[in-house]
Amino acid sequence: MIAMNENYLKLKESYLFAEIAKKVSAYERLNPEKHIFRMGIGDVSLPLCNAVIKALHRAVDDQSKKESFHGYMPECGAGFLREAVADHYRKRGIELSTEEIFISSGASDELGAIIDLFDRRAKALVQEPAYPAYVDANIMAGREIIHLSTGKETGFLADPENEPEADIIYICSPNNPTGAVYSKELLRKWVDFANRRGAVIIFDAAYEAFIEEEELPRSIFEIEGAENCAIEICSFSKTAGFTGTRLGYTVIPKALSRGGMNLNSMWVRNRTTKTNGVSYIIQRGGEAVFSSEGQEEIRENIKVYKDNAKVIMEALNECNIRYFGGKNAPYIWMECPDSMKSREFFDFLLYKAQIVGTPGIGFGACGENFFRLSSFADPRETEEAAVRLRSVLK
Ligand code: PLP
Repeated sequence: MIAMNENYLKLKESYLFAEIAKKVSAYERLNPEKHIFRMGIGDVSLPLCNAVIKALHRAVDDQSKKESFHGYMPECGAGFLREAVADHYRKRGIELSTEEIFISSGASDELGAIIDLFDRRAKALVQEPAYPAYVDANIMAGREIIHLSTGKETGFLADPENEPEADIIYICSPNNPTGAVYSKELLRKWVDFANRRGAVIIFDAAYEAFIEEEELPRSIFEIEGAENCAIEICSFSKTAGFTGTRLGYTVIPKALSRGGMNLNSMWVRNRTTKTNGVSYIIQRGGEAVFSSEGQEEIRENIKVYKDNAKVIMEALNECNIRYFGGKNAPYIWMECPDSMKSREFFDFLLYKAQIVGTPGIGFGACGENFFRLSSFADPRETEEAAVRLRSVLK
């Protein structure tokens, strides 16, 4: 009989998300006349911008003619898109060669695949509350997880002062679900720690485009020494609405080596073995995101989500509810009122206000008394949800 990967048996079933979906559909069945406000979603609601749509159409036409047709694309990404990404970093003062940029079909795919570079004995440190994929991908690979809880006392940011015995260090900034963003000073502590320890930081920058405070780092490569210890994983999903179109990029500096092995060369070997590149059409769409028209249009879309966040934050302010995030991130991480547990608060909001959010417990044990509201919904829905929040929380 074939031996199976029994690490899958160690995965916790995502009961919570299944339970939420069940509760919402049961409520809808019993109350068909009531409209539900979906503020739990991590998916965008605005369509792709015009610059991207035009580029996608042009690329489809390219595929119709012999002279401009593209077959297999280079495994690590098309030169034109790697150039556009390098240029994007250069404008922010970060010099990267195109060979340090890998085009991917999204951050999730990459987060799952990149840990192939590390031995099974490497311990993964996850700062919680966290995006659940970090823990699950490492459990599947049979790794030990170090759960580092954060709380409201530190604004949901962690410090390496206790020198955890971590080999792979996950940092998500701006954070999903808390919206917390690392300062350069605190990020520098992690970079110095990783370099001292010989660990590797996986920096998830999926929400970097939401940072509006100039002094906050949007890339870990703004920190000196990060080129010796960090991999940065980025996505077009929330920046440019590519959740269903699928595109991302990963930066692995050539300077990053561990145990006499170079991680950039290893990743080239991995990609050339395990992928055949990302679709030509989609990469052309991604290139258009970096055009001046594309940049202007995605900023307009992000502003819509940011205005939604303001509407929710104003309602919470009026109700004296404490929250984190919202300013430099699309998520608002609110404290549940009256010391309610996050599941209890989920029920309360669904039954009393027809608002669906995400219970904090879904992101780790330390999320128990918190609740995530997303700013990705339609503005009119968000306005109405804010009215309802006021009416039940005041
Ligand atoms: N990283 C974080 C923190 C996320 O919240 C998400 C999606 O919600 C992803 C990565 C996945 O992004 P992608 O759509 O590029 O796979």
